[in-house]
Amino acid sequence: MWSYTHHEFTVHQIPALQDNYIYLIETNDVLACVDPAESAPVEAACGTLGRKLTHILNTHHHWDHVGGNPELKSKYGCTVIGPSYDVARIPALDQPVSEGDVLHLGNLDMSVLFVPGHTRGHIAYVIEDALFCGDTLFGAGCGRLFEGTPEQMWNSLSKITALPPSTRFYCAHEYTLGNLEFCLERVTQEDVVQQRFTRDSGRRQQGLPTIPGTIGEELATNPFLLPANEVFRNNYVCKHGIKDDPVSVFAHIRAAKDRW
Ligand SMILES: [Zn+2]
Repeated sequence: MWSYTHHEFTVHQIPALQDNYIYLIETNDVLACVDPAESAPVEAACGTLGRKLTHILNTHHHWDHVGGNPELKSKYGCTVIGPSYDVARIPALDQPVSEGDVLHLGNLDMSVLFVPGHTRGHIAYVIEDALFCGDTLFGAGCGRLFEGTPEQMWNSLSKITALPPSTRFYCAHEYTLGNLEFCLERVTQEDVVQQRFTRDSGRRQQGLPTIPGTIGEELATNPFLLPANEVFRNNYVCKHGIKDDPVSVFAHIRAAKDRW
């Protein structure tokens, strides 16, 4: 478990399953769990912290994000919060939320962003300078479009990158190195991407996570965000002979990654 300090809270990062991350948000009176893939590592972390779980925050309905809901709710009696769009697909959901909702978890103000694309009901949570984005944005990547369109995902990513560049994002999978390899092989070999690959390879070799990262770094090195950059886009459009607009370029890169 790794821990990160923010102004009013601490985030604990728990590895789970093959490559998932589960997060605990801790204040004096709140212990909220984001996307519990499974219950056992969350219960172990609660034991280590000597605390009981007060909330579960789900970003979307996939089993590796909600799998721990029923057991954790029955053990701790915690409140389960999740997307209103997916009431029927989130187990043990108590409080459905939508874009623009502001929730008060103890002293923390938490706002909800609607970020469909990976799934049609996907949401993200913003607390101070922390973003919990599930499978929407990854380190140098983004989620597959299982239920949404490239346009929906592009709009969702644009909503996320409108947050301040110093925002730390906590995503639900450790996929960064594979995404950077794809980027270097198929999208761009810019120095800044090479440097990130060297640094993050070193982290992984030491058994450390590459997450959280910052929105600012993603804007410079994430191949799925580069379509917003006009110089990059012009080059890419010429090379591949596709339509010159960000959504078309994004869709082309997403399809290339799906085949990679
Ligand atoms: Zn998912």
